[in-house]
Amino acid sequence: MACIFCRIVAKEIPAQILYEDDSVLAIADINPVAPVHILVLPKQHIERIDSPQAPGCASALFKAIAHLAAMYNLTAPGFRVVSNAGQAGGQSVDHLHLHLLGGRQCSWPPG
Ligand code: 5GP
Ligand code: ZN
Repeated sequence: MACIFCRIVAKEIPAQILYEDDSVLAIADINPVAPVHILVLPKQHIERIDSPQAPGCASALFKAIAHLAAMYNLTAPGFRVVSNAGQAGGQSVDHLHLHLLGGRQCSWPPG
């Protein structure tokens, strides 16, 4: 069976879609950890940021991040982008995605 994000891309299960183009989908995270918490993902199933196919979608993902950051007024205050990879990285959905986090002060180290 297709992964949960592939099913969202296929519109088989609902999500709050915030941005979409030919190769990228951005959705509201179902369990937000910041006032703005958006998941930006390639429509193609790519497992994680170090998968061989990941560089091919990087510029589309980055453009979507810039667009969404401006859309949600995060450009001036700043924001964080995170991609968890694998078990120790805290990845729970094995379909590459960037978390766009904003609307609050982020701390460091992230934990
Ligand atoms: P990861 O842990 O893989 O870095 O991030 C997965 C993210 O996907 C989590 O923040 C989680 O809340 C979110 N998530 C998991 N399932 C769904 C879902 O069905 N819909 C949406 N919108 N977000 C989901
Ligand atoms: Zn997938």
